[in-house]
Amino acid sequence: MKYHSTRGRQSVSSAAEAITRGLASDGGLFVPDRIPRLSEEDWAAMENETYQERACRILAYYLDDFSSEEIRDCVYGAYNDNQFDDPRIAPLVFVKENLVIQELWHGPTCAFKDMALQILPHLLTTSAAKIEEKSEIVILVATSGDTGKAALEGFKDVPGTRIIVFFPEDGVSEVQKRQMLTQEGENVHVAAVYGNFDDAQTGVKSIFSNSSYTEILGKNQMKMSSANSINWGRLLPQIVYYVSAYMDLKAEGTLKGNDPMNIVVPTGNFGNILAAFYARQMGVPIQKLICASNANNVLTDFIHSGVYDRNRNFAKTISPSMDILISSNLERLLYELTGHDDKKVSGWMEALNQDGRYEVDEATKQQIQNLFWADFADDEKTIEMIQQTWAEDHYLMDTHTAVARKVYERYAEETGDETPAVIVSTASPYKFGNSVAQAVLSTERLEGRNEFEVLTVLSEQTGTTIPVGIRDLEKRPILHHTKTAKEEMGQTILDFLGL
Ligand SMILES: *Cc1c(COP(=O)(O)O)cnc(C)c1O
Repeated sequence: MKYHSTRGRQSVSSAAEAITRGLASDGGLFVPDRIPRLSEEDWAAMENETYQERACRILAYYLDDFSSEEIRDCVYGAYNDNQFDDPRIAPLVFVKENLVIQELWHGPTCAFKDMALQILPHLLTTSAAKIEEKSEIVILVATSGDTGKAALEGFKDVPGTRIIVFFPEDGVSEVQKRQMLTQEGENVHVAAVYGNFDDAQTGVKSIFSNSSYTEILGKNQMKMSSANSINWGRLLPQIVYYVSAYMDLKAEGTLKGNDPMNIVVPTGNFGNILAAFYARQMGVPIQKLICASNANNVLTDFIHSGVYDRNRNFAKTISPSMDILISSNLERLLYELTGHDDKKVSGWMEALNQDGRYEVDEATKQQIQNLFWADFADDEKTIEMIQQTWAEDHYLMDTHTAVARKVYERYAEETGDETPAVIVSTASPYKFGNSVAQAVLSTERLEGRNEFEVLTVLSEQTGTTIPVGIRDLEKRPILHHTKTAKEEMGQTILDFLGL
């Protein structure tokens, strides 16, 4: 299989090249030249397979330059019981009739980013060896909170790599910040950026496409790559859990024959829901992809109107991993829906860059509306949803998952569609424990307590367990102290690398 840039100006690559480079040199994203369909044999075999076996099968289609042994090493190196606290890796929880939740946060950092970032270092080092890349690989990450920690965990002390993470100083939760600032490892660097996530992401993207940085690093036998969901190696592993959820629903009896399902995804950068789209194109009978946003509802408006307009206020919400106004992976969807029309896609992305806005043509808009349904939930509704789910169903959900459930509730009301749905849960409730505690505990229990003490109270009062990745966080020493202006991110990188 070959990979192209969504902007068409970079010649074709193998999977190994696409994964090693991260971002195409024309600023576009790498995409496979076709989306393979799973065969009858695949479907039959997967019924009795483990998560890891399903992963090997699916990855093999896209990584045809990897041997099956290499794929196995990557998959089992990532998804095992040293890293994941549930042997099913991405378990479905049947909370009650019509409420099925897929928990994607059983990895080391308690958010769904681990699903991809535990395997990416394996994919990347295997890819780099395959294309005989001798340079040290410098992973640059902009994070709204969860990617940063998951990438640091995934890449710490991986030979031949260095990792540099930028996060918005005031845009992440206390737990998220502490998780990053206490990160150990010889090859890790962390910096807070004065600005929001989009500032950090734009900064990283512009460093990637700035040839003077590429040159300085090149002279020192270093090469930049990305662990953001713009890297194909991030997106690909996410397809697996949608296929796996479908197989599990069939095994459980919720779905029979070719019965369709719906998927509900709390969305920010559009990576997770795009993986569901790819799963659909591979043959999973997904009827609607329900795109749930918080108050930063740029995607809701886009799916309703065909106009993507980032010229709006940036809201800081209690679901900060979705506080995003530029959803990078939408570019890959547009490339697919326009039949790989790289000129059209380039034009829209240029308009986004210049004016912060673009409008897709009528045919593309129609396709989007056939596939997707979108709405948003503000903080108040999010808190209500957490509270209600705990009170009625005794299930504790995080703020992002609650956004998804709220939007799904509206979808069901508005459309009357009774197709079984899977709501994707993207973080442990303890990762956003302060907001969750506010929703389910009385204010008096929380008064005068810091965010870490609140977690203990939450655990005691709900009878749920604080995951290992978050326990004792406030006792760990802070190892990273750098803060930088968004204009200085390039220099910060050079300083970190000693150049
Ligand atoms: C990253 C993240 C999201 C958004 O996922 P995208 O792939 O960026 O759309 C949602 N919830 C949580 C907890 C996240 O960490």
